[in-house]
Amino acid sequence: MAGIVVLSKVENGVPSRSTLELLGGAQRLAAGLQAPVGAALLGQGDATSLYGYGVEIVFRVDHPLLKEYQADLHLIALERIARAAEPQVFLMPGDSLGRDLAARLAFRLKAGVVTEVIDMDVEASGKIPRFTRQAYGGKASAVMVPKAFPVVVTLKPRTFDPAAPAGDKQGREVSVEAPLDPEQARTRLVERVLEETTGVKLEDARVVVSGGRGLGGPEGFDPLVELARILKGAVGASRAATDAGWVPSSMQVGQTGKTVSPDLYVAVGISGATQHVAGITGAKTIVAINTDPESSIFKAAHLGIVGDYKAILPPLIARCRELMGG
Ligand SMILES: Cc1cc2nc3c(=O)[nH]c(=O)nc-3n(C[C@H](O)[C@H](O)[C@H](O)COP(=O)(O)OP(=O)(O)OC[C@H]3O[C@@H](n4cnc5c(N)ncnc54)[C@H](O)[C@@H]3O)c2cc1C
Repeated sequence: MAGIVVLSKVENGVPSRSTLELLGGAQRLAAGLQAPVGAALLGQGDATSLYGYGVEIVFRVDHPLLKEYQADLHLIALERIARAAEPQVFLMPGDSLGRDLAARLAFRLKAGVVTEVIDMDVEASGKIPRFTRQAYGGKASAVMVPKAFPVVVTLKPRTFDPAAPAGDKQGREVSVEAPLDPEQARTRLVERVLEETTGVKLEDARVVVSGGRGLGGPEGFDPLVELARILKGAVGASRAATDAGWVPSSMQVGQTGKTVSPDLYVAVGISGATQHVAGITGAKTIVAINTDPESSIFKAAHLGIVGDYKAILPPLIARCRELMGG
């Protein structure tokens, strides 16, 4: 098979959100390249739902050692799949797994690698895919063209629309052998610490209320938590706030944090550095609250409120409570 292979995850019989985003990108590329779409699947799980999103072949490695994520073992399995599938493009999510494995997989395949892709299309010849990624912290974009195939590509989360169902289609599954051995694992999981999260996930939230250094300390996040609760949203933060230890780093939004695409993003006490704005370009409406009228965040914002958040948030919260009944 020459075409596009998507590293896929199926949860309870349904492709995960990030898999649907990859399949959305793959469908676009497949139409331009006139190439089939395949899926790489590790472990067990019903793969039939993938066929409904344009996948023609599922390449699966099933092995007890793949139950827990271990980079070296997953890498061996993915290499086996890539060699069996011989794709032009191997698509992976730009999350921690993609960051862990994409470059290593490309090295093993002697392939090129393009990471954090935000857009893809196909050159007029219909043969060469083009991958766009942000440069200079989002101030510019770079278009990359592979000089040879295969190419391993990671897609920035939340930048591609999830694939639309492609009808009730049939596909086939190919079992790929990967002789895995615990000795091949060069690291060992010692402890797993689950962070307690309540409410809606930051990446999935329709409303995100984020705070930055301008909040002055961890207690500054209290009214943001309250506003997010009333609006049924999630709380995010700038890197200055997470670096200061005011909130966990899992709440960081931006180039090196999470990418969010809510209907409403409220930035409180955030200056709007390009690295922060790179994570919110998918937001439909951005509201900024900042004491400095010259702050860069007002260039990104659709609505700007100049003033101290301590004066602005209480009446805003009270009004939202009235309207939302929270
Ligand atoms: C490689 C790299 C990657 C990075 N990745 C990220 C990233 O993913 N995410 C990210 O956020 N940053 C990232 N950064 C850091 C980024 O460059 C900025 O330093 C950071 O975003 C600044 O955070 P801030 O806006 O909270 O703080 P500041 O820039 O200090 O801004 C604070 C703002 O609060 C306002 N303010 C002060 N008091 C009040 C008040 N009482 N009420 C209202 N407003 C007030 C001020 O006017 C100011 O505009 C990265 C940097 C680098 C070099």
